[in-house]
Amino acid sequence: MLITNATLVTWERSNRVLSGWGIYIEDGKIADIGPDAELKTRHPNASLLDAHGQLVLPGNICAHTHFYGAFSRGMAIPGDAPANFSQILDKLWWPLDKSLTEEDVRYSALLCLVDAIKHGTTTLIDHHASPNFIDGSLDVIAETVEMAGVRAALCYEVTDRDGPEKAKAGIAENARFIAKAKSPLLGAAFGLHAALTLSNETLELCRAAVGENVGFHTHLSESKDDGLSVQKKAGMRPVQWLNKHGLLGSHSIAAHCIHVDENEMDILAENGTWVTHQPRSNMNNAVGVSPVEQMLSKGIKVCLGNDGFSNSMWEEWKAAYFLHKLSTGDPRRMDGYTVTEMAVYNNAALANSFFPVEVGILKTGVAADLMFVDYASPTPLSAGNLPWHIIFGFRDSMVTTTIVNGKILMKDRQLTTLDEKEIAAKSCELAAKTWKRYEEKF
Ligand SMILES: [Zn+2]
Repeated sequence: MLITNATLVTWERSNRVLSGWGIYIEDGKIADIGPDAELKTRHPNASLLDAHGQLVLPGNICAHTHFYGAFSRGMAIPGDAPANFSQILDKLWWPLDKSLTEEDVRYSALLCLVDAIKHGTTTLIDHHASPNFIDGSLDVIAETVEMAGVRAALCYEVTDRDGPEKAKAGIAENARFIAKAKSPLLGAAFGLHAALTLSNETLELCRAAVGENVGFHTHLSESKDDGLSVQKKAGMRPVQWLNKHGLLGSHSIAAHCIHVDENEMDILAENGTWVTHQPRSNMNNAVGVSPVEQMLSKGIKVCLGNDGFSNSMWEEWKAAYFLHKLSTGDPRRMDGYTVTEMAVYNNAALANSFFPVEVGILKTGVAADLMFVDYASPTPLSAGNLPWHIIFGFRDSMVTTTIVNGKILMKDRQLTTLDEKEIAAKSCELAAKTWKRYEEKF
């Protein structure tokens, strides 16, 4: 397939915006890239896909999400509204994840995958919980990912909150899935909930369950509860504790890292742990502001996730851009390049640690994971000012076509692999029952 009549945004380290260029795709990869006329000469028999002058960019990547939270939209929390993070877990997430059945897990994932394709998000790193359907839950999600045609790295969150048997089932689910998840679209990590719900003993079991080269994906100091909990059970800080158990390092992801001190940041920098930033979630939960710029300046690889919010990653770009300005009272903070560093370059590097092909950049030899953006720029657009066009100009609705592994998943806003209406209708039916089971837990 030859994409013609495009304006390419390459997201190379020295980013380029190239008008009148095209991309030739073969076997799921970008096989050639260049001016239209040259490509047409070199590949005369290719089937043509006219981009009609739209921007063509590498698909967006989400570094931390929760498909299982999809049914929470519009759900009422009984009684008084949660007043802090621990009450949000107690009243919202834990009774909800316990209400999920196999079908709920399937349709929650499908809803998120529809949303991802519509918003040009082509790679997602998910963190799953369904305590009453643990064994095989990652297979169900994996099936939906392959059906949708996007890339996703999956894990199951191990926790002690539901007793040792469920913790062991979570460990087994991770180990089983890690051993089998080997496809261009599927990756795996070992999921841990958070320091506040894990014991020394369980962490030892987790570490022993998989090989040294397996990464762990955990929440870390999202609220102050992790710090208080680890101080009590181990007399140290959460980063020191996880590090002592061998759970951090260049394959592992620590989501949030809001309440981390200088020494903890130094440890994360030293051992190369990936950190993910989810500003919309942090604002919604009122848990604080992650010291993202400080971490980046220490060399920590901070990425951008959505924590289960909409899969339009540009919304997360915008939240990051505005939040740090407001919280520091300094409009110079968190500029467009810093957002790009997280959302583009670090997210791509993280995704590349999970999949056998390179993503997140336009050049020959990498995966053809692309989106078309219908953005008729009203002011001059260049590689240098593109981040500000994205933050102030790009809208969800501008994504018209999404391609992963060379396969078209949405063309001119029509999904090709998933039936959006059927998925929404079935999800409505299932969610009503899930909400009922959830309410019965109070
Ligand atoms: Zn999360």
